[in-house]
Amino acid sequence: MNANPLLQDWNTPHQLPPFDMIRPEHFEPAFDSLFAEHLAQIDALAALSEPATFENTAAAFDRSGLRLERAQLLLDNLTSSETSPALQEVERVMASKLAEHRSRIYMHAGFFARLDAIHAQRDSLNLNEEQGRLLDLIHRDFVRAGAKLQGAARQRYAEVVSKLAELTTAFGQNVLADESEYTLPLTENDLAGLPPFLLDAARAAAEARQQPGWAITLSRSSIVPFLTFSSRRDLREQAWRAWTGRGEHPERDNRPLAKQILSLRAEQAKLLGYASFADYAIANRMAGAPAAVHALMNQVWEPAKARFESEKAMLREEAAKLGEPADIQPWDWFYLAEKVRIARYALDDAEIKPYFGLENMIAAMFDVAGRLFGLSFSERHDLKLYHPDVRAWDVSREGKVIALFLGDNYARQSKRGGAWMHVYRWQGRNGGETLPIVVNNNNFAKAGHGQTLLSFDDVRTLFHEFGHGLHGMLSNVEYRLLASPNSPWDYVELPSQLMENWALVPEVLEKHARHAETGAAIPAELVAKIKAARHFNQGFETVRYAASTLIDLALHERDDADGIDIAAFETAERERLGVPPAAGMNHRPPHFGHIFSGDAYAAGYYVYMWAEVLEAEAFGAFEEAGDPFDPELADKLYRYIYSAGDAREQRAAFRAFRGRDPQAEAMLKSRGLR
Ligand SMILES: [Zn+2]
Repeated sequence: MNANPLLQDWNTPHQLPPFDMIRPEHFEPAFDSLFAEHLAQIDALAALSEPATFENTAAAFDRSGLRLERAQLLLDNLTSSETSPALQEVERVMASKLAEHRSRIYMHAGFFARLDAIHAQRDSLNLNEEQGRLLDLIHRDFVRAGAKLQGAARQRYAEVVSKLAELTTAFGQNVLADESEYTLPLTENDLAGLPPFLLDAARAAAEARQQPGWAITLSRSSIVPFLTFSSRRDLREQAWRAWTGRGEHPERDNRPLAKQILSLRAEQAKLLGYASFADYAIANRMAGAPAAVHALMNQVWEPAKARFESEKAMLREEAAKLGEPADIQPWDWFYLAEKVRIARYALDDAEIKPYFGLENMIAAMFDVAGRLFGLSFSERHDLKLYHPDVRAWDVSREGKVIALFLGDNYARQSKRGGAWMHVYRWQGRNGGETLPIVVNNNNFAKAGHGQTLLSFDDVRTLFHEFGHGLHGMLSNVEYRLLASPNSPWDYVELPSQLMENWALVPEVLEKHARHAETGAAIPAELVAKIKAARHFNQGFETVRYAASTLIDLALHERDDADGIDIAAFETAERERLGVPPAAGMNHRPPHFGHIFSGDAYAAGYYVYMWAEVLEAEAFGAFEEAGDPFDPELADKLYRYIYSAGDAREQRAAFRAFRGRDPQAEAMLKSRGLR
């Protein structure tokens, strides 16, 4: 038992998890003991004989459960970045136990009574702004977890939450299984149109699976280039159907799971007095209510469809030229769009990628962080990490190490798809200073030889996740529960989307976007073309995004999801909204992990666009100042956005940075929808 590293102090540099000592079988017994430890801490707080104070309720709560959180973050990270059948089994077993434990804490009647009493006196306690936020947020989390419920409602609420945790985990695992199981094997005869970088990656993917020839996988960095370049319409259709059919595998069909999840969420919202799950979820975010989200989407939907139609006309012309059928199908769109892009914007990924070597782009993003926030990054080679591809840097500001940053950039079978940021530890000072450990995950296809080259989309993804990473690294709050990026889900994408803008700043490109073989700087015409091309295909992109958003809202605005047939609902909604058939959607419900693999983004796929409104406004401030590194603005950006976490209400924080409330106009313009 003492040999369990999850229960010991970690005497590693920065108390990094001792990855080489941790085995899947350590988790379950460790969690059992850490649940008991955490519960004992809360029991002790509830049993205090002295009167409740901010310090012995809210601040003490912020200091509790740290060892449990440490194990939980580790499990989260490993099951996403370097999973195995054994870890997935742990994840399955632990999902409901973790939810049960959370319920036990957040339904702790004794502790809640003291917290509720303090909250009632909130205004006479002389709290500073951050303390007031902490008290409000903890109290809100208790109420939303059902702490005020009594009797049968209380019991049922706990069951609903626990069942939801189980179902959402299973949903995510089904998608992961569909993604890792499927390959489209290619032989010599199937390669028409595929550029060298894709052949290279497809060869490596086949080798990793001990398959002959080449293999296309359902990882975005494999499937999207395939749909873009393959001139074999039959294979594109096959790949497209596999990609959009995720979640419908007969042995692990996600549709019944989604149905149950929706039904339980509707019940959960009702128990807390909300009309629907959308009302319940959005009340907690910057938008406040579904109506605010609809108001935004209404400004977007029709202009996006109009732009989609004009793009489709261009694609038809292109199809006629190529002798391709005029009935454009979703599996034709990427392919024809690429042809139009080359014809009209002369923009060719194969021409662009040599300028965006991964190494150079990592240097570029570190350079930007240095100029905006005074950060420097020093790579460490002495740390034992969880996979040889992962790299680590000490991050310093004003002569002091403020974070450890991990970069995990390549796709592999043991990693889930997509790109994300997570932490191994939150920043905080309450009860002793803790250094944040932040990880960025990407899924770039690793080059078989030489430097991995990125498309400009990949570069944006890299900068995007780095923006989330900076949010975590720069966090500078007292209470870890308020540490960035702990902020509402429609705000948390502001720091990430904003950072994408610096990937196109001329002086950054001049210095870092250098040809992999010749070292030449990227030509100005090519940059101009990348910028011009940003508007291209925005009708398609916006329609696909908005359609997924509107269906997410519609699913969660139902007040009773009993008996909903997911497939029929999807079809009916697409018809009602007039989603163009050739567009497809970013995510169909059976594999819509954002909304069904957890509840953070449920009734919340809109958050990206909400944050884009904020982001366009924020970068607009630098453009107005005429300097992308304007020191005064950079300082405000640090103070009000990146370091502030949830210690300040978001509308107020944004106003302090920008000097006004955000307006949608800049976002619509930047998408070319005006
Ligand atoms: Zn993001």
